Amino acid sequence: MFRKVLIANRGEIALRIIRACKELGIATVAVYSEADANSLHVQAADEAVCIGPGPGKDSYLNVPNVIMAALITGAEAIHPGYGYLSERASFAEACEASKLVFIGPPPSAIEKMGDKAVAREIVRQAKVPVVPGTHGAIRNEQEALKQAERIGYPVLVKAVAGGGGKGIRLAENAEDLSRVLQLAQSEALASFGSPEVYVEKFIPDPRHVEVQVLADSYGNVIHLGERECSIQTARRQKMVEEAPASVVAPSLRQKMGEAAVRAAKAVGYVNAGTVEFLLDSKGNFYFIEMNTRIQVEHPVTEQITGVDIVREQIRIAAKERLHLSQRDVQWRGHSIECRLTAEDPDNDFAPCVGKVTHLVLPGGPGVRVDTHLYPGYEIPPYYDSLLAKIIVWAEDRPSAIARMRRALEETRVEGVKTNLPFLKRIMAHPEYQKGNVSTQFLNRYLRDGTG
Ligand code: ADP
Repeated sequence: MFRKVLIANRGEIALRIIRACKELGIATVAVYSEADANSLHVQAADEAVCIGPGPGKDSYLNVPNVIMAALITGAEAIHPGYGYLSERASFAEACEASKLVFIGPPPSAIEKMGDKAVAREIVRQAKVPVVPGTHGAIRNEQEALKQAERIGYPVLVKAVAGGGGKGIRLAENAEDLSRVLQLAQSEALASFGSPEVYVEKFIPDPRHVEVQVLADSYGNVIHLGERECSIQTARRQKMVEEAPASVVAPSLRQKMGEAAVRAAKAVGYVNAGTVEFLLDSKGNFYFIEMNTRIQVEHPVTEQITGVDIVREQIRIAAKERLHLSQRDVQWRGHSIECRLTAEDPDNDFAPCVGKVTHLVLPGGPGVRVDTHLYPGYEIPPYYDSLLAKIIVWAEDRPSAIARMRRALEETRVEGVKTNLPFLKRIMAHPEYQKGNVSTQFLNRYLRDGTG
């Protein structure tokens, strides 16, 4: 096992990783930007190194500074968390070149899954169902039009290097497609540094259901079941996640789980990863992408399986074998996560900054809060707006909803606008309570602000 690990991230996920390290008896090194000097992850780690100014590109994305911080402090491994450097194959390679262990998959797996058009092809060949679409990136407008005709409208144009719900455009017909194609390409170039796009069929009203996988260096790959992440904003940002998905019966869980394992094996995957699917109303599921890192919503899987996924990531990176086989994985009860964000629900979820003047976090039975907030915390303007993940566990879905409603009632954040009132409305909504959710849920039921 490692003696010292550097955490190349900030916020709640940095704290989450530090906690896992502490429980494994591993010393921790935090890195931080000048804007994060007063952050909890800096205090929680055994050592901390400032790696640059506030903007992410000058600090958390500054590869030489992160690597130097690890070398200077004698860390043996780097955990990248999510976002930032977590899905950059070149960073994983830079770690290897400096004899540091990257706590994540091999660079080749990151690279293959990082190009969504390539990933589709690879998993399709491994007999994983994919959304009907182009085989690889499209070369020109004619090809896009021809392929869209074959697939059938409406279609989505997506960036091969896309992520975070960005760079996705809908085309209802050929005229639309010609128009959005160029837009999508320039958007993709600006956001992801590559203009390449592909076209796939638009699945109406799907559920977003993803499968957590764990793979060790010895070819053992298992899945920990699914998470339902259908409650998304118009910008395709996840807001509420749960496990299990209420519509996934054991036979479908097994089928999706096996498909996810095949997808992971197809790229020689090692460590924790998430295979994302869309599930249509007939129970058909289609691969959309694989995230080659820890996910924000991993706690709901931890709550119902009892597996500490971050601890497993570290053990796998330290070349330990998986501690459990597929048969050992058992699911118990129901878990829901609400993402509390500094976003104004009355203003199109615009991010807000400010100082947290008063804070009460929920507690009691079955409640877990992963957060870097404290009273007096000043939210820097440079980073994402996630403030806290409120996670509950209960024996079944109705009890989990009741518990989440109670937890949200206990929560108080003053000094900055948050989406707390909006989360309460989701939990109170009869259609949510019935499990009638899809990626169109917010658009359909809560868009006009009256719910
Ligand atoms: P990103 O990598 O940007 O997160 P994804 O491919 O994972 O992009 O898709 C994000 C979200 O966009 C999905 O959860 C779903 O809501 C929507 N989406 C993606 N592909 C489709 C599709 N083919 N049909 C309908 N909705 C889709």
